[in-house]
Amino acid sequence: MTVGRFAPSPSGRIHLGNILCCLLAWLSARQKGGKVILRIEDLDTARCPQRYADQMIADLQWLGLTWDEGPVAGGPCQPYFQSRRTALYQQALETLQAQGLVYPCFCTRAELHAASAPHRSDGQPVYPGTCRALSPAQAAERAYVRAPALRLRVPDEDWGFLDGHMGAYRENLARDCGDFLLRRSDGMFAYQLAVVVDDAAMGVTEVVRGADLLGSTPRQLYLYKLLGLPAPSFCHFPLLLAPDGRRLSKRDADAGLDALRGRVTAPELLGWLAGLAGFNPSGEPCTPQQLLPRFSWDLVPKEDIRLPVMER
Ligand code: GLU
Repeated sequence: MTVGRFAPSPSGRIHLGNILCCLLAWLSARQKGGKVILRIEDLDTARCPQRYADQMIADLQWLGLTWDEGPVAGGPCQPYFQSRRTALYQQALETLQAQGLVYPCFCTRAELHAASAPHRSDGQPVYPGTCRALSPAQAAERAYVRAPALRLRVPDEDWGFLDGHMGAYRENLARDCGDFLLRRSDGMFAYQLAVVVDDAAMGVTEVVRGADLLGSTPRQLYLYKLLGLPAPSFCHFPLLLAPDGRRLSKRDADAGLDALRGRVTAPELLGWLAGLAGFNPSGEPCTPQQLLPRFSWDLVPKEDIRLPVMER
């Protein structure tokens, strides 16, 4: 059975990009008779307080995007909040440590950005390997002064996959991505590790998410292999851009549900978004169920979608 998921990070009010993500994940799974899981990706507890998660859950309920497992619904893989699942990430980390692939890194963010290293597709610098060859004695000495982050040593290998929507994608792990973070110096586990552990533990078979995470997928596939876990299939969809072409963010008040919920109904909003995403050309109001027979990945564009200027 197809198992899809919504995995929002509640660092602010849900915005149109998140809503499109949840809508596509919901339609893609439901069309195959599958189920949907809601997982709250609140690893960064300082940026993701519980009240934002509560608001996000209420907004998804208002939209009528139902889930079979997750907060409120319950289910066999509780808890559905990443902030409460750190024991699982610790276990996975230890599995990787046992393979000799994890090393402590003492570089500060400022040092990394100052280094003239090439940048990854997500704009982050490729780690230049500064701490890769520290001896255990050197690492122990530095750990007196600064708690280290933990990085995964990646091989000079190409990792590719066939995205269900975007087609073939490949990266060289060493050159395009670099040794990546598994745990930050403050102890917070990295998204890359947590998402792999959770999608596998929750039996997710299909990941639907924005194209900004396309470049994370080779890293995640590598983690699936190292951890001996089955990888899901992936469908990345184009990003929504603000009318001026900028990436939409949670700061775009116009695109947040705060501004929208008072002005439009949920079917109006979903029908309009589905129109922008190519499978409801008239843009007429639709519930998620009404969109089910209209949805097809073939109709969704591959280029970024620019939002029209909204009337006030
Ligand atoms: N939590 C991530 C976000 O909100 C999504 C992660 C994923 O879908 O893999 O951007």
